[in-house]
Amino acid sequence: MPAAYDPQNIFAKILRGEMPCCKVYEDDVALAFMDIMPRAEGHTLVIPRTPARGLLDMPEDALGPYMLRVRKVAAAVKKAMQADGLTIQQFNESAGGQVVFHLHFHIQPRWEGVALKPPGAMGDKAALEANAAKIRAAI
Ligand code: 5GP
Repeated sequence: MPAAYDPQNIFAKILRGEMPCCKVYEDDVALAFMDIMPRAEGHTLVIPRTPARGLLDMPEDALGPYMLRVRKVAAAVKKAMQADGLTIQQFNESAGGQVVFHLHFHIQPRWEGVALKPPGAMGDKAALEANAAKIRAAI
């Protein structure tokens, strides 16, 4: 039996405005904001407004519009951060590396020869804000 969606997960709280985030984009389909523990400068998360736990829980009719937002934000991140490439990650369930159980895609800008930072280090608030402003301007 698949696990249920928990409306108290942190991203659901961000969607409802109960928790702050460093926002880069929002519309009626998706919200994008800076990952609080960035693995690269400009590491952005894109989440659907649909309450889906993971990719396999996302209703088919909501998936297409959401993926268009993922791509739109990804393009802006690449441009704003002057990246050579992007790593786009999406994890499902604990065994798959998922920690927050609301569907999200990670958009990580990449530069030739620059490795991702190890996970778990909080980002500098001013740097997160500065990167968010750059990405907002590129959307
Ligand atoms: P995942 O579920 O894909 O493994 O990872 C969840 C991601 O969400 C992590 O990269 C983590 O840094 C990020 N994250 C966890 N809690 C918060 C939060 O409260 N705010 C923001 N902006 N990011 C968060």
